[in-house]
Amino acid sequence: MKVIRWVVLTCLAAWGWSVWMSPPADMNAWWWRKELINLSGVLSFVLMGLIMVLAVRPAWLEKPFGGLDKMYRVHKWAGILAISFALLHYGLDLAKDVMRLFFERPVRGPRPEFWLDFLRGPVKDMGEWSVWLLGAMLLITLWQRFPYHIWRYVHKVLAVVFVVLALHAIVLAPPAWWMQPMGVLVGIAAVAGSVCAVLALSGRIGRSRTHRAVIVSVEPQGDSMLEVVCRVSGDWQHQPGQFAFLRAAGHEGQHPFTIASAQNAGNTLRFCIKKLGDYTARLPALLKAGDEVSIEGPYGCFELQRDIRQEQVWIAGGIGITPFLAWLEALQSAPGPVPVATLHYCVRSAADAVHAERLQALCATLPTITLVIHCSDEEGRPSAAALRLLDKVASQPQVWFCGPQGLGDSLEADLARAGLARGAFHREAFQMR
Ligand SMILES: Cc1cc2nc3c(=O)[nH]c(=O)nc-3n(C[C@H](O)[C@H](O)[C@H](O)COP(=O)(O)OP(=O)(O)OC[C@H]3O[C@@H](n4cnc5c(N)ncnc54)[C@H](O)[C@@H]3O)c2cc1C
Repeated sequence: MKVIRWVVLTCLAAWGWSVWMSPPADMNAWWWRKELINLSGVLSFVLMGLIMVLAVRPAWLEKPFGGLDKMYRVHKWAGILAISFALLHYGLDLAKDVMRLFFERPVRGPRPEFWLDFLRGPVKDMGEWSVWLLGAMLLITLWQRFPYHIWRYVHKVLAVVFVVLALHAIVLAPPAWWMQPMGVLVGIAAVAGSVCAVLALSGRIGRSRTHRAVIVSVEPQGDSMLEVVCRVSGDWQHQPGQFAFLRAAGHEGQHPFTIASAQNAGNTLRFCIKKLGDYTARLPALLKAGDEVSIEGPYGCFELQRDIRQEQVWIAGGIGITPFLAWLEALQSAPGPVPVATLHYCVRSAADAVHAERLQALCATLPTITLVIHCSDEEGRPSAAALRLLDKVASQPQVWFCGPQGLGDSLEADLARAGLARGAFHREAFQMR
């Protein structure tokens, strides 16, 4: 979230500059209202520019952000903050009539002319409509029960809203800003965001990373899991632990799944998919061997670290075992140092541990990797204490977690309280919304 902090600080600094350049004669309530409208508008718009850039999944931003899953987290929180600033911006604009009751409005001098002034009325109206739309979007985003597949289509409308708001910002920005850092920020956000909006609306996101693939096999695993093996055509390279978006022809849009296998000569990718919602529940009936699918990726930075100086702790919650399956497979086939690690596979019951046998076979050839299976029905909810991680904190291991968000949050908090260094807890975000 550092990037959001930087954006906010940069906007505050640029606003400070603009005030410094034209200091007010009287810092009255009306001056504050105008400046806060300007500041909240810029904060909202520049954050929206960032959101648009992140939405097109630029590969060059993956490393600095730590993976596409983390980029989407920043996208989500920047979105929530941008909409909050937009609501504040609009609320301050509406506050005019109430303020008149308490504060006398000083007579205003003439506004400097700007060649786009003829658009002021329409872009103000469009700005108002956009704020209502953004407010509605915020509500359905926070309401996690709103169906994801409908949310995705509604979410696309935001690219159009961004272009409207770019026009709103350019036309209504004080003309003096165009010679100041505020103008530079608005200009960069408008151009970068609009280019990305066009890419999103024309369906070009991820096109250069999309490969055709054919399904080799579809096998049920237990009651709620499916193993899908695909053969990808073209030049495909992935690191163990990365994920890809899978899209089957004629079905709803693409869904992200971790590639549960290491790179191999046959370009075959294995996905282990759990029924977690409507689409994944329908997959066993939808997919069959021989079907064509498209695979976009690979993405993510949840990559195996072959560092043998520091002990590692790997924790998988249920289907979060998939990146570790790929890591273990890679350690069998690719020569190189094997880290000292304990893999905790946390499941509800022994019946849910559908990957136990395969994990045991993979770990059997790797003496420095210890497998521990934790069944909550017998041993209670997995916690740092229950997994016996608290004693390990003294040696400052690197902890890698993949699984449900709640479990990740509680383990991270337990370990931080016990003294685990900041940055030693790495996790894959299994949720993008
Ligand atoms: C990086 C990453 C790796 C993942 N790896 C695996 C894996 O190896 N195996 C596995 O079983 N699951 C994995 N998931 C989760 C999987 O993507 C969701 O379970 C699946 O998309 C749910 O779709 P649904 O329509 O069945 O469920 P819904 O009920 O529609 O959605 C449940 C939740 O899944 C997420 N989701 C749904 N559709 C999408 C989408 N198109 N794009 C992004 N997120 C979506 C949303 O957070 C949503 O709230 C992974 C998710 C991410 C982000």
